[in-house]
Amino acid sequence: MKDLAYATELNTIFASMHGKPLPQHATETSADFRFEPLIEQSFLRFYLLRIRRFVHLTGILFLAFIVLELTSEGMAFASMPLLVLLKAALLGLSSILLVGWILHHSHARQPQTQYHQLLTPFIVVIPIAANLMVLIHSNHSTFDIMTASVGLFYCVMLVTLILRISVNYNLALVLAVGAITIATIWGTGANVTIPFDIHSYVAVVFGVFACAVFEYDIRSDFVGHAQLYRIATTDPLSKTLNRHAFFERGQMEIDRARRYNGSLSLLMIDIDHFKQINDSFGHPIGDQVIASFSDTCRHSLRSSDLFGRVGGEEFAILLPDTDLGAALIVAERLRFALESHIETPTGTLNVTVSIGVAQLSMTEPLLQELIRHADIYLYAAKHAGRNRVASSQTPEILSERGVGQLLGCAAIT
Ligand code: GH3
Ligand code: MG
Ligand code: MG
Repeated sequence: MKDLAYATELNTIFASMHGKPLPQHATETSADFRFEPLIEQSFLRFYLLRIRRFVHLTGILFLAFIVLELTSEGMAFASMPLLVLLKAALLGLSSILLVGWILHHSHARQPQTQYHQLLTPFIVVIPIAANLMVLIHSNHSTFDIMTASVGLFYCVMLVTLILRISVNYNLALVLAVGAITIATIWGTGANVTIPFDIHSYVAVVFGVFACAVFEYDIRSDFVGHAQLYRIATTDPLSKTLNRHAFFERGQMEIDRARRYNGSLSLLMIDIDHFKQINDSFGHPIGDQVIASFSDTCRHSLRSSDLFGRVGGEEFAILLPDTDLGAALIVAERLRFALESHIETPTGTLNVTVSIGVAQLSMTEPLLQELIRHADIYLYAAKHAGRNRVASSQTPEILSERGVGQLLGCAAIT
């Protein structure tokens, strides 16, 4: 359940950033070190939410380490030289800065402001510079070496994990440390000295390794949650949205159309005489018809249209930014495309559909209402002989016998 909540959150994140649900192909993205730009952006937000607990823990561990270091110096507070206190303060400050920055960002849901973008390099550079200074000017006492190495390690880990979380940042640091080392060895001639303590090299290399593993892990997790979200919202036979997802997203679309005063229409489609197909050819062929039917529909729809299975062989298609006239054209195109184009393993079957079309009324902006209206027209199309499209603009169908009572039950616009 917790995983499903994460998966839903993932979609909410994507929808809040890009104004549309997470695309299906997000689940096909391999756990690479970089997704395509839109997915990468929502992944970063997802990532910050995921690592919040890790970051808290790391901050506590780092502070605990400093306390341990200070006390293990033999209760040296009284006799501690000013320089060592300064170093400890630098490290403490750097960790507080980092943890504070991380906490701030892990709670922020909105995209970064320009102010944050400007501030980020400073917040990141200051702790690293502070730690490097401690390292370079270290007099190689146990305190200096250990504190500085662990401090650097934490900075490398945290900065790399938080700032775009790419291992590339770590690799850049490795290259920089390597270049400084080579330059120093080169410059020292016969008396070879290295600029950093061996602990620092271990810290940097381990930082790269840990970040790579952690980042890969979180990216796989992201893809896993995207897959879970897809499974929870997709009907396995027709590969369309399931009823629950269709209702949820459909209402979101309606709210949006209302906000922007846009038009929106709904098609309700029911396969004609489907029981006969099942009875004559068997249930598995019936299943094939449903799968083939939805494939054909999908190919004729835009990516912004919502296509859902709302009943056994009953489907709904929500067309954003589409008025009734345009929706009727789509419906007729679908009806024509489906007629005799349903492929099954036993050959092409002559399958037809009936479609009811309704446009959203701004006086009753509810999906249930829209479905009720489209359903009435679907019923009208069935009564008029099936294999046809019905709406308030098709009076010849609505005047058929048996439809009169239906029209009496709702004032349809
Ligand atoms: P009408 O033209 O009036 O719609 O006639 P119909 O035979 O299609 O009638 P109805 O819509 O009531 O029939 C629905 C049938 O669809 C009944 C049910 O057995 C079948 N059905 C529902 N879901 C599935 C499914 O997943 N696979 C298969 N093979 N059949 C299904
Ligand atoms: Mg039917
Ligand atoms: Mg039906």
